[in-house]
Order: sequence, then structure tokens, then C-alpha cells
Amino acid sequence: MERTVVGQVIATFGRHLLVRAGTGEPLRARPFGRALEVVCGDEVRCRLDARHDEVHVLEVLPRRSVLWRASKRGGAEPVVANLTQLLVVLAPLPAAELFIVDRYLAAASAAGVPAILVVNKSDLGIAARLEAELEAYAAAGYPAVRCSAASGTGIAGLLEMLSPGSIAALVGQSGVGKSSLVKGLLPAAGVEIGELARAEEGRHTTTAARMFDLDDGAALIDSPGVRDFAPAVQALDERTLGFPEVAQLAAGCRFIDCRHLREPGCRVRRAVEEGSWHARRYESYRRLRRLHERLGAHRGR
Ligand code: GDP
Ligand code: ZN
Repeated sequence: MERTVVGQVIATFGRHLLVRAGTGEPLRARPFGRALEVVCGDEVRCRLDARHDEVHVLEVLPRRSVLWRASKRGGAEPVVANLTQLLVVLAPLPAAELFIVDRYLAAASAAGVPAILVVNKSDLGIAARLEAELEAYAAAGYPAVRCSAASGTGIAGLLEMLSPGSIAALVGQSGVGKSSLVKGLLPAAGVEIGELARAEEGRHTTTAARMFDLDDGAALIDSPGVRDFAPAVQALDERTLGFPEVAQLAAGCRFIDCRHLREPGCRVRRAVEEGSWHARRYESYRRLRRLHERLGAHRGR
């Protein structure tokens, strides 16, 4: 019988992978066959092959969650698997594009994982306007952690939000301080990534997705592909597009298939008119709805 082993993909360099089985040193691996799509965080079954220094990934085990990004052709492709939390990083500078933040939050919802807002560069001061937005997010169920990668303030608090065993993926606009945060979050002793991972990193020019262990048994996924991704609208819930506020209000709409745009008797729109739902979040919802319809994501699903 052939020997197989189950492990987790902790790094991807294009089709070159590192798979960690048990607590051992990661193994060099490659998907067996073109059709097999493997991403960082995936749990995979591999065939050990004594003759080669690479193992073959035969199978991707069922994913507990997937972060979907819009592919170049407008479809959906996985970027990270088995994440349990999404950390959406923003900062006073560069000024937060809240529409993009909202799209990341929607992607978390499509992945079925909770999201936290990480407000980095709090040393620069958080303007009253941003604070008001954070309040609206908190009301929608998205807590914010204020921190500063530069001064270290709030980093311990952020670590506390990552429960043992959790896998957190970091997203956010460029320049908000994600690299700085990764450095701040990793154990002070430095990143023990292993000889092989270091060697692999040197061998490939492809930008890598990496999973790092944190001190308390949680893990962090950092990947350029995850950082600036546009979420796949196809993966979003048809009714709510991933907005918890809409999910809550939609039961009060006259029509079961209400899109919450111009339909009469729309509870969602009424909430905005009454001021009980944030107008800017609603505007984000409308933009995402238009995008959803333009891409025809509502058809053929
Ligand atoms: P990334 O593009 O999201 O990975 O952002 P970087 O980590 O490269 O940071 C972008 C810039 O913001 C760099 O010049 C950092 O030194 C700076 N930066 C990162 N974190 C902080 C912070 O907490 N406070 C301040 N003032 N600057 C920061
Ligand atoms: Zn409605």
C-alpha cells in the first residue's frame, strides 16, 4: 500500500508548496495534476515518494472556509482556506477607503468567518469622523482594535483577539501597515520558519503566501494575493451581500426577493431614511449590489 500523509499547506510559491505534517519540518510538495487547486491553509493528503525530494498532493481535504477573490476573468478563485478570522487593517493614513473595507467585510461573511477591524497607526490620532464610522461598524458586529505597529501600543490586545487554534488572515489597502503588523505580531524571538522555508523563499521569484505560527497556538496568514484582493461577488449571499445589517432588517421588507434598492415597502431603505442604519454603509451595499448585477452573479447560480 502506498504511504500517504495528511498535512497543512503553510506556504505557496505558485505551484510549489510547503506542507507541514504533524509538527515536523515542512515538506516540499506539488499538486499532482493540473486541475488540483491548492492554497495556503489547505489541509491536504500527500503521497510520500522516497525517490524524489518532493511529495505529491493527491487531494485537498474539505475546506472549512474559503476566502474568494475575483479572478481576472470575473470568476471566483480561492486565495486562502480554513481561515477562522479576517483582520481588516485600516489606518488614519492613507485615508481609509471604507467602500473597500466594506468589501473585505462582505468577503469575510461569504467565507463564514468573523471579521475584526484593526485600526493601525493610532499614534497618528483617530479623527472624530473615523471614530463615528467605527461606531457604526461596532453596531453591525465588527469590533475595532486600535493599535500601532510603530509604538507597539495595542498589539497585545490584538493578540488577545486571536483565540488559540485560530487562523487569521490579514487584508487591507497598501500602506496601512500590514507588514509592520506581521512583524509586531510574530514572536519577539523572530520568525522560526525553518531552514527549508527559508531556502524555498530564496529559490522562487513568485510572491509567497505564508502561514506563521503565533505564540499562543494561533496562526497568521500573510499573502500578497490576499492583501489587495477584490472579493468575488459570486461568493456573496444573494440576499444580503454579506451585510449583517441587511440580514437583520430584510425580514421586514414587503417582498421576499427585495434587493433593497427602489422596491416599495423596503425595511432596509426605511431604516436608512429614519437614520437607524448608517447611510454610508448602505451606499456601500448599493455599490456592491450594482457590481453583483453587472457581473451577472445573480444568474446561473
Ligand atoms: P503595508 O503596505 O500595509 O504592508 O504597510 P507597511 O507595513 O509597509 O507600512 C507602510 C508605512 O506605514 C511604512 O512607512 C511604515 O513605517 C508605516 N507604519 C506602519 N505602522 C505604523 C504605525 O503604527 N504608525 C505609524 N505612524 N506608521 C506606521
Ligand atoms: Zn428591502
